[in-house]
Amino acid sequence: MPRPFDLDPYFRALTTLPGVGPRIAPLMERLVGGPKVIDALWHKPIDYIDRRFAPPISEAPAGKIATISVVIGKHAPNARRQQPYRIACSDASGTMSLVFFNPRKKWLQEQLPEGARRVVSGKVDYYQGRAQIVNPDFVPEAERKTLETVEPVYPLTAGVTNKTMNKAILGALRLVRPLPEWLDEAHKKRENWPNWDEAMSSVHKPMREADLEGENSARSRLAYDELLANQLTLLLVRSRQRKLAGRSYDGDGAVRARLRAALPFELTGAQEKALIDISADMAEPARMLRLLQGDVGSGKTVVAALALAQAVESGAQGAIIAPTEILARQHGESLKPLLEAAGVRAVVLTGRDKGAARETILKQIASGAAQIVIGTHALFQKDVIYKDLGLAVIDEQHRFGVQQRLMLSEKGKGVDVLVMTATPIPRTLTLTAYGDMEVSRLDEKPPGRKPIDTRLFSMDKIESIAEGLQRRISEGARVYWVCPLVEESDVMDLAAAEERYDILKQRFGDRVGLVHGKMKADERDVVMAKFAAGDLDVLVATTVIEVGVNVPEATIMVIEHAERFGLSQLHQLRGRVGRGGDQSYCFLVYAGPLGEIAKERLNIMRDSEDGFVIAEKDLMLRGGGDVLGVRQSGLPVFKNADLNMHGDLLATARDDARLIVQRDPNLEGERSEALRYLLYLYECEQAFANIRSG
Ligand code: ADP
Ligand code: MG
Repeated sequence: MPRPFDLDPYFRALTTLPGVGPRIAPLMERLVGGPKVIDALWHKPIDYIDRRFAPPISEAPAGKIATISVVIGKHAPNARRQQPYRIACSDASGTMSLVFFNPRKKWLQEQLPEGARRVVSGKVDYYQGRAQIVNPDFVPEAERKTLETVEPVYPLTAGVTNKTMNKAILGALRLVRPLPEWLDEAHKKRENWPNWDEAMSSVHKPMREADLEGENSARSRLAYDELLANQLTLLLVRSRQRKLAGRSYDGDGAVRARLRAALPFELTGAQEKALIDISADMAEPARMLRLLQGDVGSGKTVVAALALAQAVESGAQGAIIAPTEILARQHGESLKPLLEAAGVRAVVLTGRDKGAARETILKQIASGAAQIVIGTHALFQKDVIYKDLGLAVIDEQHRFGVQQRLMLSEKGKGVDVLVMTATPIPRTLTLTAYGDMEVSRLDEKPPGRKPIDTRLFSMDKIESIAEGLQRRISEGARVYWVCPLVEESDVMDLAAAEERYDILKQRFGDRVGLVHGKMKADERDVVMAKFAAGDLDVLVATTVIEVGVNVPEATIMVIEHAERFGLSQLHQLRGRVGRGGDQSYCFLVYAGPLGEIAKERLNIMRDSEDGFVIAEKDLMLRGGGDVLGVRQSGLPVFKNADLNMHGDLLATARDDARLIVQRDPNLEGERSEALRYLLYLYECEQAFANIRSG
């Protein structure tokens, strides 16, 4: 089902927009989150500068933005660099100064010659009793209209100015045309929502006062559109999965019994309970789609192992997929011996396996010689053919999209899916990410864990922390040292980590290692392995160690610039320690002075170790923005919907989507024609795959 051709303009490259050349395009792409015109259109202003106020000079109040027609007067160039360049100007009511810091003098003299008429605009203030505008915008009188407007202020990045952004988006807006209406007309009327094209233009080019407010009908319509696309896609995927016949994986329990016998511990009550759910799901002929939610360290891996064992008992294969190379290898190391002790043959396959080695593994998977396959995305690839895949376990699923989840279940007939996550996702968010999935929760930690002793230090204590570490290391402790997160810059992340690494090396010598995201996976693994084996005492890291790494002997976690991390991320990082029987510590090092909220957030970390409590309090404190570090966790990031603000729209969107699918499961009716536009606009075309072959 091809994309309606009238959507083509929205999918052109950013470089087709005015002022976006090959140099700006990559910067803009990162900023707006995609390479296409539609991505620029979704990039919405965070504020507006209203330049429509046009008083005479004598009536321009301080602190307000004014747009005034003036005649340029005498120039007073600055004598020294630090001084501003002043230009006098006047209208019929009085005079004022235009003030420029660090100007190019020649340019000013050309642009604002004495005697010329110009329209100037900017915030008015008073200096020594005289009105002035610092760094004003200005245009010739004939272009007054272009200045006397409401100017949107966009989120920016280095190299992309607001002027560039405005120009590009104006260009994009020219491509916006009315589209068939996909909303239910009655609903739209009730909410008083504008048409799609009107909504786009009023967000970027507001014409009325009401359009300037943070929350308005244009923005909620766009938010609703997005939520509807999301819910509709999930529903179509899900109803397809329901239609595909499932299979019963009802083993005799023999492999599971051997596996349990090989475990060095008893399962917790929560683990047992989750296994009862999973085992029953697998035994059912319907397809399992279950989410296993458990805080870091709650012991999800062993639950997965037992589920995989049940698949093997039933004569099928199992696969477990981790989001990173390190994690896949690590699962391999911890699961393989366990599975082998239970008489199960397991292989590890990641993107790093190449050539003959890869061929051998693929053969084992295809012949069924490998009963369990442990790996990364590599397991999704076309040439990976299973003899008979029965269960797919997806660890830390939030890094995978719906599409990938789908691809995996296509790898066999009636594949059961178990998704595992440590992110404490509230119900509303679960809905957006997974649709209606059954959920099992590990709400109990394995016994014998001592609470992690979490302490806060300001940056100036860093020397004494290092000194304290020296003592603990001599007693056999192993330490993670996580370096600051520098926003939007891996390069600076790296510089900070390297600097810390050098400093710590001077103190601790060769027993310090460094891992970062820019390293090749195998180099990184070598360092990780040395740390796990105890050949390194200190592991300096950027946040690459965040998810799932398991070195039970590591008992100290130092996090530099803790104030820059999201709480859920701090929680994940801290979860790397406290995994063995020894007392563990977490030192949160912050650069002061901290604001009230920042202080309160670190206090929450000190006082609680419960991921749900932390997430909830974080939500309360922040109230908005990036709830729960959603962006970091990889849950769907909405471009137009903000669940803090539009949470109530989500439930409506779900009901709406349900009704649509109920009435018209193949999306053939009249409204469905329009809904196709919506799904394409939000790039949810995988939904169509479900209709077509369903
Ligand atoms: P996560 O849920 O974060 O993936 P893991 O599965 O990595 O947690 O388990 C964390 C640690 O706890 C591992 O070292 C694991 O062997 C251990 N563990 C798991 N279940 C139990 C249990 N019931 N009793 C004791 N230790 C356990
Ligand atoms: Mg894990």
